[in-house]
Amino acid sequence: MSQAIRLILHGGAGAAADDMRTGAHLSGLGAQCAAMLEGGAAALDVVEHAVAEMEASGLYVAGRGSKANRDGDFEMDASIMDGATRRAGAVACVRRVFSPVGLARRVMQDTPHVLLAGAGADRFACDLGLRTIGSPAEYFVALQSVDEGGSPHGTVGAVALDLSGALAAATSTGGTSGKLAGRIGDSALIGAGTWADEAVAVSCTGLGEYFIRVAAAHEVAARVRLAHVPLGQAVDQVLAVIAADGGAGGIIAVSSRGEAVARWNTPAMKHYIAEMANGCM
Ligand code: ASP
Repeated sequence: MSQAIRLILHGGAGAAADDMRTGAHLSGLGAQCAAMLEGGAAALDVVEHAVAEMEASGLYVAGRGSKANRDGDFEMDASIMDGATRRAGAVACVRRVFSPVGLARRVMQDTPHVLLAGAGADRFACDLGLRTIGSPAEYFVALQSVDEGGSPHGTVGAVALDLSGALAAATSTGGTSGKLAGRIGDSALIGAGTWADEAVAVSCTGLGEYFIRVAAAHEVAARVRLAHVPLGQAVDQVLAVIAADGGAGGIIAVSSRGEAVARWNTPAMKHYIAEMANGCM
């Protein structure tokens, strides 16, 4: 048994956002998720819960807060991975499901596949009886004329280590500005935007094309596993490779040894790190 839980949530990397609503939401949700882990909840359930709540909030560019692509349609990506078993599920370019991360979990659990995309993924959600979006105009914040507190900002993600020592990671996005219809980012790709194994769990944010080209999330885990690099150093090294290519973003990661790391090379990354009494960060 491991001694302590670890949890980090992110709400996207980018410009420094002085957003009181998001800060309050992230810390409330983070405290709730930390309490779930302290109570014995599985890391996999907690990261799914955290990401699903962020999708439903409309505060982030995921789920309700998604951005339209160049055709004016909303296409969402999400993925989830269970470190103990290395089982993984992901969805790309889904338009109808209420919780893309919830659907990714069902792809992992209920199919022999890892990634479902587009109409087939949406049909799978309907077949399962999952909650779907009725009218886009009534659902997506971007289509609503009344905006009470600024536009949604940031992809979302969560990483956790539970009391049994199991790790999990999940990521969800409503995409990047000006994306073409059918574009799939790193958030849908296991190994690029999301990774979890027996030693490390990782979730990334930033322009996905840069993260895909270096298999960023897996690259962090590989540096820890194969080169025995401390987690913080591995994350910094991967962000440096991305920066050298012209990219920018952020990475959150926790390890089975209790390391918890949140780093970014953009002006800011909204995030929450659970405070531990005997924490080692
Ligand atoms: N990584 C996401 C994507 O490229 C966007 C983000 O993290 O802001 O789809």
